[in-house]
Amino acid sequence: MKLEGRAALITGAGSGIGRAIALRFAAEGASVAVNDIVSETAAKTVEAMGATRERAFAVQADVSSSAEVKAMFAQVSERFGGLEILVNNAGVAEFGPDQTAEVNRKAEARIGEMMAGGPLRTHWDMTQELSDADWHRMIGVHLNGTFFCTREALKLMSARNRGVIINISSVAALRGIEIAAHYGAAKGGILAFTRSLAHEVASRNIRVNAICPGWVETAMTGGFSFMLRAFTTSQIPMRRWAEPDEIAGTALFLASDDSSYFTGQWLSPNGGLFTG
Ligand code: NAP
Repeated sequence: MKLEGRAALITGAGSGIGRAIALRFAAEGASVAVNDIVSETAAKTVEAMGATRERAFAVQADVSSSAEVKAMFAQVSERFGGLEILVNNAGVAEFGPDQTAEVNRKAEARIGEMMAGGPLRTHWDMTQELSDADWHRMIGVHLNGTFFCTREALKLMSARNRGVIINISSVAALRGIEIAAHYGAAKGGILAFTRSLAHEVASRNIRVNAICPGWVETAMTGGFSFMLRAFTTSQIPMRRWAEPDEIAGTALFLASDDSSYFTGQWLSPNGGLFTG
């Protein structure tokens, strides 16, 4: 087992990619603190661990609140006495249900205009309509949340001069995302934070890397219409979206000693969508 005897905290692990990472790490011998903003979903992930759930516990916290993050780390410290692995995964969808319907409508109109061979007359116009609240929420959960959790984790990791931090960014940080510039900005910020922090803490034997997934089958992307899904899939050379477990495999590599010479880098499981 690759993570025997190591303590890990995964944020947003009540669903999707975070849940898959938590289950994979537990199966590889880690003691896992399963965070989510919803305590019930975090508890369900722990339940799904089977026999290994004795080494795990669920911890509710909103990662965009520094006070809640501090309280969460107090629990982690008390329970595990330290922390070897942090995965900053918690995230929110690019847009709410009303906007999803609008994105689906515009996507279908644009696809029709493209297929007709004419100019695009349907414009996304997402950013000019974006509210202050939506901007702040996106930055708050993804970028602030990554900072708040990392700050607390570093205190525990520095005590032993040992640790691994994995930040879930996105292919949106690498190639852009036409329907959610605020999401791209948050994920780009996470990538830049990853690089700088890796330089800062390398002398403490703490490695910091990012994962930039392409499209993944989770609740976050569940509102896409058939047409929008077909269009995004047509841009992927492998012609399919990833399963959450395929991202968990990348996280396991970065968490384990198999990646002992990786720091300040990103891996992008994306089916060939971005190869730069
Ligand atoms: P998901 O299934 O919606 O899981 C995200 C989890 O984070 C949910 O359980 C969510 O709870 C939780 N969460 C939201 N806000 C939180 C907060 N403030 N504090 C703690 N937990 C919070 O989505 P996913 O696709 O697995 O996303 C995981 C990460 O991968 C995100 O950072 C996302 O941006 C990134 N990503 C996803 C894709 C994709 O195509 N799915 C691609 C690239 C990157 P609620 O459900 O209650 O909100």
